[in-house]
Amino acid sequence: MKIGITTTVPVEVIYAAGHIPVDLNNVFVSHPERERLIEEAELAGFPRSFCAWVKGIYGAAREMDDLGAVVAVTQGDCSNTHGLMETLQSEGMEVIPFAYPYERDYVLLRAQVEAFMRRLAVDWHEVEDTLRRLDRVRRRAHRLDELTWKEGLVTGLENHLVLVGCSDMEGDPDAYGRKLEDLLARVGERERDPGFPRAGDMVRLGYLGVPPMAPELYDYLETLGARVVYNEVQRQFSLPFRTADLVEKYRRYSYPYSIFYRLRDIRREARRRRLDGLIHYVQSFCFRQVEDIILRRSLSLPMLTLELDRSSRLDARTRMRLENFVSMLRREKHG
Ligand code: SF4
Repeated sequence: MKIGITTTVPVEVIYAAGHIPVDLNNVFVSHPERERLIEEAELAGFPRSFCAWVKGIYGAAREMDDLGAVVAVTQGDCSNTHGLMETLQSEGMEVIPFAYPYERDYVLLRAQVEAFMRRLAVDWHEVEDTLRRLDRVRRRAHRLDELTWKEGLVTGLENHLVLVGCSDMEGDPDAYGRKLEDLLARVGERERDPGFPRAGDMVRLGYLGVPPMAPELYDYLETLGARVVYNEVQRQFSLPFRTADLVEKYRRYSYPYSIFYRLRDIRREARRRRLDGLIHYVQSFCFRQVEDIILRRSLSLPMLTLELDRSSRLDARTRMRLENFVSMLRREKHG
């Protein structure tokens, strides 16, 4: 059966049980009628002043006839998603709970993984076999991420799509692995193409926060001569950690834990990837907007905070702000 997820959870358990994880964020954001999905949630009673991701996920979940259950992350996601899960449950959807312990306690997280395994009737042997299979695919995503910032041969949008796709591997890890292999081959050809703009010559940006409502942001930045070479949360979805221990892997995954743990990853990657500036994306009506205060206090790089609500397009004001920010960074970079 198909099991909906709204954030990264141990998908190894779902695959090992013979089910198919479906990241409902990806279903919503790639849907040809996104606005209609949001409107359907509003017709069902979700307020206008509510996160558009949650409304879109609700619309996407309602539209899928073959969705057997959804995983509710009861700690480590957000209270808006919590409300969404209760709404779906009240409409007859089976809800499977999963929680990330706030303090990243190994024993507590292992207990959560094992409860999830019991619910889906799988054992450690099956889950660890699946972990090895999925890690082979993740390694290709990590190589593409490295080619983004080291060689400058992957665009910001490609990087974003490859990494967000790791959350559910598009329901078929083998096919997803082949897709990444094809992209690696195409990227290899760019090495011999002097016409492909290298990130090294561009303004190098880091993107912090939840994935954008308008992915056209990436291509717009490229037209301004800037490239995102670090997608913070999306990279976390690919679990870029060298450990064969499944619990440890999800313990190192930063997104569900505190902003202070995320900051360590952001600082390290900002240095390593030689970033010129940061874009902090905040979703309208999301509690994570408040994290902007801590990020600004804690990071020394220039930062632009960008807020979008429901539109998949960048409006004129947003384009102008991005243009001004990139011009300022270019002046600082080249003098
Ligand atoms: S954007 Fe914020 S409010 Fe919306 S689902 Fe994500 S964490 Fe929750």
